[in-house]
Amino acid sequence: MDTSQPGVSDFVLLSEITEESIVENIRKRLENDVVYTFIGNVVVSINPYKQLPIYSPEWATRYKGSNIYEHPPHIYSIAETAYRSLLTHARDQCVLITGESGAGKTEASKIFLGYVAGVVEGGEGVKERLVSANPCLEAFGNAKTARNDNSSRFGKYMDLEFDFRGLPVGGKITTYLLEKSRVVHQSSGERSFHIFYQLLSGGDDDLLSHLSLTRNTSNYAYLCHPAEDFNDAQTFTAIIQAMQEVGVKEETRRFWMEIVAAVLHLGNIRFEEEVLMTEGDEEKVGVEGSRVVGEEALSHVSRLLGITPESLSQVLTHRSVYDQAKKEKITVPLLPGQATKTRDAFAKLLYGRLFSHLVTTLNGCISPGSEAEQRGFSVIGVLDIYGFEVFQSNGFDQFLINYCNEKLQQLFIELTVKSEQEDYEKEGIEWTTIDFFNNETICELIESKNRGIISLLDEECTMPGTPTPLTFLQKLDSNVIKHPHYDSRAKQSRNRSNPALTGSAPQSSQLLPHNAFTLKHYAGDVMYEVDGFLDRNVDALWRDVVLCIAGSEKTGVREMFPEEGDAGVGVAGGKGQKRPDTLATQFKTSMSSLIQNLMSKNPHYIRCIKPNASKRPDVFDQELVRHQCRYLGLRENILVRRAGFCYRAPFTKFLARYKMLGPDRSTDPKGTWPNYRAGDVREGTLKVLQEAAVDESEYRLGKTKVFIRHPDTILRIEMLRNEC
Ligand code: ATP
Ligand code: MG
Repeated sequence: MDTSQPGVSDFVLLSEITEESIVENIRKRLENDVVYTFIGNVVVSINPYKQLPIYSPEWATRYKGSNIYEHPPHIYSIAETAYRSLLTHARDQCVLITGESGAGKTEASKIFLGYVAGVVEGGEGVKERLVSANPCLEAFGNAKTARNDNSSRFGKYMDLEFDFRGLPVGGKITTYLLEKSRVVHQSSGERSFHIFYQLLSGGDDDLLSHLSLTRNTSNYAYLCHPAEDFNDAQTFTAIIQAMQEVGVKEETRRFWMEIVAAVLHLGNIRFEEEVLMTEGDEEKVGVEGSRVVGEEALSHVSRLLGITPESLSQVLTHRSVYDQAKKEKITVPLLPGQATKTRDAFAKLLYGRLFSHLVTTLNGCISPGSEAEQRGFSVIGVLDIYGFEVFQSNGFDQFLINYCNEKLQQLFIELTVKSEQEDYEKEGIEWTTIDFFNNETICELIESKNRGIISLLDEECTMPGTPTPLTFLQKLDSNVIKHPHYDSRAKQSRNRSNPALTGSAPQSSQLLPHNAFTLKHYAGDVMYEVDGFLDRNVDALWRDVVLCIAGSEKTGVREMFPEEGDAGVGVAGGKGQKRPDTLATQFKTSMSSLIQNLMSKNPHYIRCIKPNASKRPDVFDQELVRHQCRYLGLRENILVRRAGFCYRAPFTKFLARYKMLGPDRSTDPKGTWPNYRAGDVREGTLKVLQEAAVDESEYRLGKTKVFIRHPDTILRIEMLRNEC
């Protein structure tokens, strides 16, 4: 174990384990520019907000082929361990990177990938493509937010694939829930996705003229705030280069820019009220509707998407609905406000499809090819997914993101704290159980098929009549009011009139608003405003828009909408048509398959922490760090780790490696050695430990496994073995 660094390099070595001592250790280390610390094999990382000289090829070489505790804690320690385990045990590995926005998850994932690309031999070309895929994704999926100038607005899981010799052969990216609403609106001080600004600043004159774009961002209504200089022009050049390196064709790149431009022009289409004359039962009647103002923007969008201005204008200002009484589809004109909503839904849908198209294209470029697929490969999966979010005002997106974090925390507890404690119990090792926040009940409150919040939301979205956010809230109140992790205005009133019912509800000192509910998450209480929950969940877009766009004369555009004619994108309320899964249900399904996938792999963890909220180097906000340590469960993790054992192995496996350290048969009068083969492997293990002079307090023998407390001990045994 390295002792040259300030503080302790593994939290388990702290003499006292309290929140204070944990935070103090982080502070002391950061003050000396040391950003990584172990908890056993977990790496805790603190964002320095400045470039440190610890990612050079020389640094990487130090870690190559080394044991995890040989060198100071680093992401390289994890990368090397994961890669070694992949090679020696031929078992798939995964790295879970967690932490809140701005904590350094994406940087950590890039450092990890950089190590693999730099240190692992072979697979030239493949490694470069894997590395270059990242900037392409970031251009379209990252944005400046209040918390992070390069915030990932989607979840990312990337498999790195290796053949049986450990050579990189390819990769696969899966993304989760892109925050599409950012396309049409950004909060003050935030930006839309980087690509919009990069294209306007960095695209050459020919390209911009082809896209009918001007350089000034304030000409585009969807770019709500003036752009800051973010080196957008230079980055654009770098992105194009990265796309070339990954192998994206010139025509595909051009196509993507056309869609980006179409989205910008869409934002400039406005509507004004118009009275339309339609056939009534007896005579013509005036019906209020709207018409497009800004013909220019309309014509740019229709040209770029390959659809006629007439059909575009028609779908933006009308909606088809299924008339239950007449049993037929009718077309209803939309008022300007409704048309604007349709336009925004269209822009979000278009950008979402563009992002999916990008991911599919990148995957095509980094895929190992069918030959390698057939031979099979092992993978290291790297998960870089949004952290827990609590804003001033939290909506549907925060609800799903925080649900995702509950699932990941559950997995972390399952795989580290819980399984470790269960192992001790099973093996009959004396053990004082350490309490941890078990978030199974909150996961159930959200995802249970039987009256969970998501199923109640889905039910409300399909209610006949006009369900509203408030009817949804009422539904929650009538179904989950008793749940200890749920709170709402109705529950507060109920509890006030009957204090005996209070139970362990989140203790809100203030009355909750009428349009909100609070969930008591493992990371703290979050109040969600229900406005927008229903709209976002059905991701409202009508068949008309999809059909119109699927009729495009451009193949690329049509390919983005493969469900043309698919009944799945039915007219709301249409008869006999299967509704597509709601967004929440799709998300729940993808979370469940993600968790299953991660469970099937050998996990490694990087827990990221940010030192301050102002994105500045050398500023340490004690409270902010303490809060993150608390909800990452670091203290429990350290306690279990410290009370526990860093190494465990079945007796047979231990002996297979260290039997040569046992006593010589001639000096073993009872002749029990090496008779362990005949059955007494426990006895054999004990003898090895005694011969190696391992102190009794350093190990425990369970029913089938040996447990060793400190890494130093196992390192010493390993050294003795090398001397044999
Ligand atoms: P989000 O959830 O918003 O995507 P994140 O956890 O992915 O946040 P990053 O984008 O990785 O956060 O990091 C935010 C910024 O912090 C980076 O742009 C970089 O400026 C700085 N940073 C993060 N990690 C490091 C590091 N190891 N060294 C130097 N700077 C770093
Ligand atoms: Mg990120």
